[in-house]
Amino acid sequence: MTLKNGNYELLRFPMKMMNITQGNNGQFSHQGVNALDIAGKDAGISPTFAPCKMVIKRKEGYGQGNAVFAESVDKVMFADGTVDYAKFMFLHDNYTGDFAVGRVFQQWEEFGDEGTAGYATGNHCHFEVAKGKLVWDKAGAGYGYYGRNNSTGVWHLQDSISADKACVVDGVTIKNGNGMAWKKSSEVKTGSSGIKWTAENGTATFTRNNIRIHEDGPTGKVISGVQYNAGQSVRYFAKCAYKGHRWVKYRRANGGIGCVAVSGSEKHGVDPWATFK
Ligand SMILES: [Zn+2]
Repeated sequence: MTLKNGNYELLRFPMKMMNITQGNNGQFSHQGVNALDIAGKDAGISPTFAPCKMVIKRKEGYGQGNAVFAESVDKVMFADGTVDYAKFMFLHDNYTGDFAVGRVFQQWEEFGDEGTAGYATGNHCHFEVAKGKLVWDKAGAGYGYYGRNNSTGVWHLQDSISADKACVVDGVTIKNGNGMAWKKSSEVKTGSSGIKWTAENGTATFTRNNIRIHEDGPTGKVISGVQYNAGQSVRYFAKCAYKGHRWVKYRRANGGIGCVAVSGSEKHGVDPWATFK
């Protein structure tokens, strides 16, 4: 079942029963990392589901808990409203030979199981989620390059975030939510969902310096290290008004979408930061 907000799949919680037996920074084995141990509906083995359309990137061996690393095929929306690629680590499935590296699973397609592979005292799925794509990190050598040890020796997914900021819980029965701030899809605030874009092709030539470039839209991440200055121009294909500025969207050289403010007023033409053709 697909769960979307606009064009983006919303990340879904990877099990249908939420019974968290150890949370972020848990003192048993999660010291210093954002990670959940999710027991299924009972002491037996329940399946795990793909939070979004994802591709299997790596499987580690039993010593690493049969770790499965996967990442989203497209950018997705997190429960905190941000849009980015997502990456995941799942541990403890007893047998991962039933799916290969490179296999793509659709959103909430069953792909694995909880289990006890590696360091686990009972059947559960150890789940970590982070923004961005997986990074092959030499510092992880010996443990699996997509993971690494933190200062207290806990092996983890780099940059993992609290799962309640990532996954919505539509369709999930919450038995033990560990006191976390779980949201349903209807509660996700995107900040940008109300933006109305108008299609328009044109060229904006900037008349001032230090124009910041955002990814995708006005609320997208600011792209560091680049900016537009007076005299430079973009060929845009859509415009909108948002938070006191007029914005345009354009195709970046790398194929992604860039978004820049072109005026200091919602009224096009008032306090312009560019000329238009
Ligand atoms: Zn764990």
